[in-house]
Amino acid sequence: MPIYEYRCGNCGEVNEFLVLDRNEELNCKSCNSQNLEKLLSAHNTIASSHGSAPKVPGSCCGTPDSCGSPGSCCSG
Ligand SMILES: [Zn+2]
Repeated sequence: MPIYEYRCGNCGEVNEFLVLDRNEELNCKSCNSQNLEKLLSAHNTIASSHGSAPKVPGSCCGTPDSCGSPGSCCSG
């Protein structure tokens, strides 16, 4: 499922949203602000201090035995 993290530009809270519709308006769950900045996928971001450990993607990348071809499951 497409879950994205957004950091509130108002209060700094990091919110996770399950985004099904790109046109859906997102509001900070803490202060209800719409001033949200989309964060890059977890492995590219600095670990947040909110206690939510970044999710580690599957270990198939680079190991042909797991998914057939290295990197094929990592794009996108
Ligand atoms: Zn906020």
